[in-house]
Amino acid sequence: MKKHNFSAGPSILPQEVLLKASHAVMDFNNEGLSLLEISHRSKAFVDVMENARALVLELLGLEGKGYKALFLQGGASTQFLMVAMNLLEKRAGYLNTGTWSKKAIKEAKMLDDIYEVASSESANFNYIPKGYDIPEDYDYFHCTSNNTIFGTQIKEFPNSPIPMVCDMSSDIFSRVLDFSKFDLIYAGAQKNMGPAGTTLVVIKEDILGKVSRKIPSIMDYKLHISNGSMYNTPPVFAVYTSMLTLEWIKSLGGIAAVEKLNEKKANVMYSEIDLNPLFKGFATKEDRSIMNATFTLENENLKETFETMLKEAGISGLNGHRSVGGYRASMYNALPIESVKTLVEVMSELESKA
Ligand code: PMP
Repeated sequence: MKKHNFSAGPSILPQEVLLKASHAVMDFNNEGLSLLEISHRSKAFVDVMENARALVLELLGLEGKGYKALFLQGGASTQFLMVAMNLLEKRAGYLNTGTWSKKAIKEAKMLDDIYEVASSESANFNYIPKGYDIPEDYDYFHCTSNNTIFGTQIKEFPNSPIPMVCDMSSDIFSRVLDFSKFDLIYAGAQKNMGPAGTTLVVIKEDILGKVSRKIPSIMDYKLHISNGSMYNTPPVFAVYTSMLTLEWIKSLGGIAAVEKLNEKKANVMYSEIDLNPLFKGFATKEDRSIMNATFTLENENLKETFETMLKEAGISGLNGHRSVGGYRASMYNALPIESVKTLVEVMSELESKA
């Protein structure tokens, strides 16, 4: 029986996507060959890559606006450095909202000067800083839309006077935003899009070509763009499975439809966290993520009982990250609301037992 999968990533994918992907591993397009054994230069795979890239721009509402979508490798972690290599000339501003922002800052600092425009580190990142200024003479501003570990999410993005770069690894395709506010978006596939192994990068082309450093080929966005995201062998399985998920999002009615479902799930989850006296939410209410709900069990003596009940209910992947402790319910696009309802039932049953 399929478990209720609350894993933070890699995480749940739509069942129909898994079925189609597993079929393609055995026999791709009924061609008598596996997706994993054909050339990435074959027409069949080039079509997959082109379709996936086009679907990204279509779903984000960025068609015809000067953007290009790339499917790269090395995880979002490689983007921490790649962004700086391609865009950092003198100084950039970073919003520090958690572990992943810090890592992005650390990598960029290897190349040049980084200024933290604001940080919530002193409160263990339980909120999103607001009302900060972004200096006009910097090269770019970098932020993390959703903090996977702490369960906070930026609800209102600043009107940045300089190019805005955003790590959307854990909430891409989950809510409607004006994506044209961003000049570069990146996201590891393994939460809302597909298996681990590819990273989506969406770039407004006109921000490139402005730094004086020499950029190694594999790190050069321009080169990846001019090669149609096929400068080197792409991760074919991850790209194909991402394409299937993008088609699935489109078939549901696009990001707006998915967002409604995500809001319903988050409401069910947070209502229980707020009403049940045994649990306490970690993130400040106004900044709560609709993707990752972080919470603690107030009475340690009930931990074992709670965890046994979770196991019996088939709930998996609920452990919080060590820097927050407690629990984290990751409710990515593919998680059915029934899974959230099952979790909430277990939480309220624990209350009636206590
Ligand atoms: N940014 C965010 C917001 C993440 O959640 C993660 C992974 N959990 C990363 C970056 C790092 O991604 P990767 O493991 O693909 O390098």
